[in-house]
Amino acid sequence: MTFGIRNIVGIHRLHTGEIDYSTPLIFKTYFQWSYWKQKAFDYLIWCHLAHALDFSVALLCWLWIFPITFTEANEWHIKWVSRVFLYNIACEFIVYSFWHWMTYGRTSPYPKGPLHGKKYNSINQYEEENQHHLLREVTFTTLGWLQSAFVQCIFMWLWASGRLPYYSDFWSRPYFSMFILLSVTFWREFHFYWVHRFMHPWWSVQNGLCQGDIGAFLYRHFHSLHHQSRNPGPWSGLSMHPIEHFIYYTCAYFPLLFLCHPLHFLYAKFHADIAPIGGHDGYADPAGGADFHYLHHAFFECNYGVPLIDFDRLFGTYKEFVKKSSLNDQQTNKLL
Ligand SMILES: [Zn+2]
Ligand SMILES: [Zn+2]
Repeated sequence: MTFGIRNIVGIHRLHTGEIDYSTPLIFKTYFQWSYWKQKAFDYLIWCHLAHALDFSVALLCWLWIFPITFTEANEWHIKWVSRVFLYNIACEFIVYSFWHWMTYGRTSPYPKGPLHGKKYNSINQYEEENQHHLLREVTFTTLGWLQSAFVQCIFMWLWASGRLPYYSDFWSRPYFSMFILLSVTFWREFHFYWVHRFMHPWWSVQNGLCQGDIGAFLYRHFHSLHHQSRNPGPWSGLSMHPIEHFIYYTCAYFPLLFLCHPLHFLYAKFHADIAPIGGHDGYADPAGGADFHYLHHAFFECNYGVPLIDFDRLFGTYKEFVKKSSLNDQQTNKLL
């Protein structure tokens, strides 16, 4: 889940003492709606609106970076490649740093205020001595963005050199274009569950990380790096081993299978780059509110997916979030 204007305004409202800090900005009566009306809204509208930031970054890339790079992309050249990489790295540091500042920044007023009470684990993982969580997370997150920028360059080169077909007029196929665009959110959740589940032990962990279990092998050698962020923060989401980055970013490789507009690829790519921020920030609403994935980091063998497509309930790995009143930080830390 990406953060958005709703989260920024919500944190500020909470900080300034407003009781109704969670009231939606547009659909203000949402919490009074019936269960099914809420579900219909969540699956038809909100799941897309919640990724407005990812889409905005993709759209800006298409409208600004493509016109100044794509005409040269039929051949590899440092000039257009460096522009693509610069755009990606600039987006990383603007978007990630902003949310880190909002939720953990030493100069930010918010983490010291009422927002602190919303933290799932009240210990600030970035102030623990000799842990260097932030350095590790920023380093591996940056490696992820570098890899996804390289993937973007490869697709631009394939398209511009005529090696891979594409279409450039989005509205020349309005229904198909919109269908693929709106499918990106659901595809990402579907893909994430399966590649993530793939990297945890396939059989019972009671067997240990045994030989012959591919999931156990992948967990031990690659995915365990992501789980070093047991008390996650905004930079934890993309803090992965480069092999895991490779598996994770295959969600954006679908233009290899069928004819697409570059915006479809860019939305999937930037969705994968940015969406993990809110899902890992470690705070309840009005921040990311991702208790579901927080529990995955805290307890490992549960909540592999994202609630939008609930494979965890289907396969019996769903874990309900227990409020702090019954699971205090000391108990949680003992389990970590
Ligand atoms: Zn995991
Ligand atoms: Zn995670």
